[in-house]
Amino acid sequence: MHKDIATPIRTKEILKKYGFSFKKSLGQNFLIDPNILRNITHYAGLDDHTGAIEIGPGIGALTEHLAREAKKVVAFEIDQRLLPILEDSLSPYDNVKVINQDILKADVGAIIAEEFQSVDKIMVTANLPYYITTPIILKLLTENLPIDGLVVMLQKEVADRISAVPGTKEYGSLSIAIQYYTEAETVMVVPKTVFMPQPNVDSAVIQLTKRKQPAAQVLDEEFFFTIIRSCFAQRRKTILNNLVSQLPNGKQKKNDILSALSEAEVDPVRRGETLSIQEFAKLSDALLPYFK
Ligand code: SAM
Repeated sequence: MHKDIATPIRTKEILKKYGFSFKKSLGQNFLIDPNILRNITHYAGLDDHTGAIEIGPGIGALTEHLAREAKKVVAFEIDQRLLPILEDSLSPYDNVKVINQDILKADVGAIIAEEFQSVDKIMVTANLPYYITTPIILKLLTENLPIDGLVVMLQKEVADRISAVPGTKEYGSLSIAIQYYTEAETVMVVPKTVFMPQPNVDSAVIQLTKRKQPAAQVLDEEFFFTIIRSCFAQRRKTILNNLVSQLPNGKQKKNDILSALSEAEVDPVRRGETLSIQEFAKLSDALLPYFK
């Protein structure tokens, strides 16, 4: 077993050797605690039949743990300056492929088809760049990729919103968008001291396990998400008032909206934050004929 990259001493050594300076704009906060990394890989449930996708390997702190446990690792890194460092730090492993691409622009489906031909399971495991946490997770969930789950480090505040249950102030359209595709659980809250440099916010690790079927069946997915966004447009407003002000010709169609609410058995004076995914699904199906 090689010496871990993720210790303060080794990380500093590598940074110094390459004269590397952190770019805040790329969310570069590297992990310097091997225990946290062991926990992340534990929750990801990796084995030699599993492919791991990493976003932002940095200098390879998490990557080497993935390489030890998974069959193959594909890591997307946007910062070219890190490529020679990764080549060096990951040289003991022959099952890692680093791809110098912006994850938000990459054709992840095509890369999975090419790189993961003989794995039984694919897990996304990463310490995410915090400036694009939500777009990354939503991209990976909505592009219909053969991914089984994600175990990722992110801002605690975002983890709280993703895993929130109805009736709490954290519950909103992000909770629903992600819980529609996955079962979400915050598995670790992480102190700032495990990063170099330390981020300004608290962090957490979230485990997202892909559902075989979405959490609710709907007639029109796009309309379902439009209705959810409308119902949370102004959190203090009732569902009825939000729908009236957000939907096209909502004012004129108030009676139609009331009929749909009644058909879906949703009290018009409730607030969006009290509705379950299943209730939003019923409501969106009942509204659909009036608006499409
Ligand atoms: N995995 C390393 C660790 O835990 O020490 C680094 C994690 S750091 C929070 C985020 C990494 O994502 C950085 O290496 C950064 O350069 C990279 N990154 C930022 N934006 C990216 C993007 N759009 N696509 C791919 N990688 C990105």
